[in-house]
Amino acid sequence: MSQPRVIIVGGGFGGLAAAKALRKTPAQVILIDRTNHHLFQPLLYQVATSALTPSQIATPIRSILRNQKNTTVILGEVSGVDKDQKRVIASDSDRQNVPISYDYLVLATGASHSYFGHNEFAEYAPGLKSLADAEAARNKILQAFELAEAEEDPGRHRDLLNFVLVGAGPTGVEMAGALAIFVRSTLKSDFRRIDPASARIVLVDLGTRVLGPFSESLSKAAKRRLERLGVEVRLGHSVDQIDAGGIVVAGERIASKTVIWTAGVAPSPAGKWLNVEVDRAGRVRIQKDLTVPGHPEIFVVGDTASLDQDGKPLPGVAQVAMQQGRYAGKLIHGRIVGNPPPRPFSYFDKGTMAVVGKGFAVLQSGKIQVSGFAAWLTWAAVHLQFLATSSLRLTVFLQWVWTYVTGQRGDRLIVNHYGAEPAKPAADATIKRASAGS
Ligand SMILES: Cc1cc2nc3c(=O)[nH]c(=O)nc-3n(C[C@H](O)[C@H](O)[C@H](O)COP(=O)(O)OP(=O)(O)OC[C@H]3O[C@@H](n4cnc5c(N)ncnc54)[C@H](O)[C@@H]3O)c2cc1C
Repeated sequence: MSQPRVIIVGGGFGGLAAAKALRKTPAQVILIDRTNHHLFQPLLYQVATSALTPSQIATPIRSILRNQKNTTVILGEVSGVDKDQKRVIASDSDRQNVPISYDYLVLATGASHSYFGHNEFAEYAPGLKSLADAEAARNKILQAFELAEAEEDPGRHRDLLNFVLVGAGPTGVEMAGALAIFVRSTLKSDFRRIDPASARIVLVDLGTRVLGPFSESLSKAAKRRLERLGVEVRLGHSVDQIDAGGIVVAGERIASKTVIWTAGVAPSPAGKWLNVEVDRAGRVRIQKDLTVPGHPEIFVVGDTASLDQDGKPLPGVAQVAMQQGRYAGKLIHGRIVGNPPPRPFSYFDKGTMAVVGKGFAVLQSGKIQVSGFAAWLTWAAVHLQFLATSSLRLTVFLQWVWTYVTGQRGDRLIVNHYGAEPAKPAADATIKRASAGS
């Protein structure tokens, strides 16, 4: 008899945990992801601010699962699910809309940016979700300094060196702190016409405090720290407009070539694929065993799922995705080998952390609230522990020590395409060949 097939869509925290939990299962496991790498999103801001290189926070998924013989990794984009026929629809650069059958399906497709109905902002204020986003942000930041150095009119330097971050949640706060350290220390001796330390960094949010999910005292500590680093924190202000010239906040225009969106997230379209109930944010409402109502063979985990615990929705964090992915994988394993069903899923909160500049973090775990150097050491240890491979743990650790001691960063390259002739369209080439032959 052929083995049952488990399809996992997404090789992020949730999908990878599910795949690993199925390593000993007598099943054919297929993991499909549109990128070839597992990305450690919590450190994306460090790539955007030149602290780490892209390869230090991402690992090829097939290399992580290379010893897992029952698992095949496919680079492809899923665009739909046929629940009745039990098939996912996937495409790659070679083949479009290929149906792939499953017996069990785990959807772990994460989230993307939400511009809260202002999609026109996306062109001028890119978000920070993928490795490509982080590289684009790094290019943009470094380019701003290059433009300012080349600008002969000192009156324009100020505008070129205005950096605006929209969204004062953990990503915005971590990014603002890292950017402040970068411009005030790493870059300080590198330019002649401009003083990088004079760069203005503005962090904007509609909310009344930074780090909304943290307690009020930790939120205040983080804000004080940001202000000591020279970050201008503007709370309670909405963004009216973002365009090529900058941003309008509460009626005031801030000229800027570098606006980065670190605010809302929108889940993947998994709810639309499945045509099932979603919450207000668009996340798929799942049951306590992480399945979709009426479909015990379909699991949805991580950022794209919505599940309440103790009357509150679980947060979109890596720990939730990992614990849910592991649970779904174990439950599927149990069903295949005939084990009794496990207890309903219950999230164990190990705490939340955010780093603010060099040597300072805030940490909240149950009743424990810590800020300062000890919290930063814990943050560093936890993040190292959760990197995908031991080689990443070692290189990131060494890079952090080097940066801490010398102030020098890992990757300050602006990587752009230029110089090459654009490729000719195939049709054009065919026409030329035909006319040459006639
Ligand atoms: C900048 C940033 C900082 C963060 N910091 C923290 C932090 O400090 N601590 C914390 O706990 N959490 C943090 N998070 C949140 C955390 O990263 C997410 O909660 C977690 O990644 C969710 O895991 P997931 O498996 O649901 O999705 P993801 O890890 O996002 O994985 C989704 C995967 O699905 C793939 N995919 C998506 N759509 C398709 C498709 N149609 N076809 C094929 N593949 C697809 C993607 O390529 C991706 O590999 C941060 C997130 C960001 C963006």
